[in-house]
Amino acid sequence: MTRVPHDTATRPRPSRAIALQTPSRRLPGRWRQRLPELDAYYRQHVSSLGRAGDDGWAQGLCPFHDDHTPSLSVNLDGRRGGWICFAGCGKGDLVAFHMRLKGLGFRDAVRDLVEGTR
Ligand SMILES: [Zn+2]
Repeated sequence: MTRVPHDTATRPRPSRAIALQTPSRRLPGRWRQRLPELDAYYRQHVSSLGRAGDDGWAQGLCPFHDDHTPSLSVNLDGRRGGWICFAGCGKGDLVAFHMRLKGLGFRDAVRDLVEGTR
């Protein structure tokens, strides 16, 4: 008797549309609610991050350029974790920060933040 591999025997070949949605390319469910806590995240990745002012913004050393004066402001109060570098590195939200820091695309950055795969 010949054993046929279970998968090929019972499952139809996935269509291309389904194949494109393999788990590794899908965003985690409700990922926006599952992003790391802003204060903890930024303290881990921004050197010399000070206390947030009343407006929720704190200053620290920008990891995107050779920073010796705290040029980076991050918003520890908002929902998106906005940041801006006053030395010209740009601005964005928490996901954009992580993309740039780790050199990841959007989906991989979200997965990394939510699932901690890196
Ligand atoms: Zn910078």
